[in-house]
Amino acid sequence: MAAIFEGGSFVRQAIPVHEAVQLVTGHARPIGNETVKLQDAYGHILAEPIVAKHDVPPFNRSAYDGFAVRAKDTLNAEEENPAMLEVIGSIGAGEVGERELKENEAYRIMTGAILPEGADAIVMIEDTTETDAGFSIQKSFQAGQNISYQGEDAQVGDVLIDAGAFIHPGTIALLATFGYSEVQVAKKPNVSVISTGTELLDVNEELTPGKIRNSNGPMLEGQLKRLNIPYTSFGMMEDDLDACTKIVERALEASDIVITTGGVSVGDFDYLPEIYKRLGAKVLFNKVMMRPGSVTTVAVLGNKLLFGLSGNPSACFTGFELFARPAILSMMGNTTPYLPHMTAYLGEDFPKKNPFTRFIRATWKLVDGQVMASPAGFNKSNAVSSIARGNCMIVLPSGTEGYEKGMEVDILLLGQENGVASWKIP
Ligand code: AMP
Ligand code: MG
Repeated sequence: MAAIFEGGSFVRQAIPVHEAVQLVTGHARPIGNETVKLQDAYGHILAEPIVAKHDVPPFNRSAYDGFAVRAKDTLNAEEENPAMLEVIGSIGAGEVGERELKENEAYRIMTGAILPEGADAIVMIEDTTETDAGFSIQKSFQAGQNISYQGEDAQVGDVLIDAGAFIHPGTIALLATFGYSEVQVAKKPNVSVISTGTELLDVNEELTPGKIRNSNGPMLEGQLKRLNIPYTSFGMMEDDLDACTKIVERALEASDIVITTGGVSVGDFDYLPEIYKRLGAKVLFNKVMMRPGSVTTVAVLGNKLLFGLSGNPSACFTGFELFARPAILSMMGNTTPYLPHMTAYLGEDFPKKNPFTRFIRATWKLVDGQVMASPAGFNKSNAVSSIARGNCMIVLPSGTEGYEKGMEVDILLLGQENGVASWKIP
């Protein structure tokens, strides 16, 4: 990469998206682990694998409400020659049968109850006819029928989930199964959010000429919430170099990651590059071959990351999802830090050229059983309405043009808990 400041003048050299993503994740250093209570584990990244501490189920149990029998007592049962069984008791889930079944005996048994000694099959209620002493059946049952076997789900010692996985409700169920009242997770980075721009108003302020309300700050906070990442909002700052530098310094003291929006273009008041220089932060890149968000800038200072996202709302949104999200997840050792993706059919023509990789805020839905993705309306980098409508981003690789309705495209899914398949970045 060319020097970013050459002889004091400011130089930008665009790099491909995948290089930029790799540069960022390559600088995302783990920040250590901590122990959390199971009830607080949701949204963390596992720092230890989940190893089965016992078989699941831990004992052979009934898969239905019915009767526990010895299969051999039903061997010759048929319509003309029903097997007659005597019921000697009832076993509810959590209870244990009092004694071993003898010839032609059965226990009434409920779903999940441990099989009584001697029993090797469950007869479902609907297959029985009640008698004075118990029931009759008109067909034979085989050993093992309708039983949920010890260890059929997991066996003691199995590595079930690797470290690095996102903890979602299913993961929590597994942890609870094995009695993890606490679990080792990766520490979450502290993130600061700063919105820059003299034109910015707070959400409760009335519009005045030349001013707009700050939408990026609240949006970024929402994106962090969606990742279950704590953040500190440093509010808005005016385009004043000294004041801005101080706020970024304060944010750096308080956090592992500082995300700013605005001030990274080449305008007279775009101070972020100068702030990075003053702080001695190393700029990883300051131009990416993508639309929107080509001015996205990322810098490192020690183990801390500074994301200089564009002020344009769509560019800011995209920059967070493409760069900040995987960096945050990588810091936590997550093994699937990229947005989940899938293939979709394009819902409408997109004739524009794509000199840079294009990310289009879009909506996917099923049409006649096929995934169809269409741009979510006005789609320039300054658009805010299409972010609100979109549930995915269509990716059109650089160097392409002339996309027509029905062509296959890659889409990045938004709002998923965590990726299961890493996106292959074009
Ligand atoms: P900048 O990146 O600072 O040059 O800003 C690019 C465009 O995004 C300008 O039109 C800004 O007014 C607008 N913008 C900057 N920051 C925000 C923000 N926090 N919320 C909404 N729009 C913004
Ligand atoms: Mg600005």
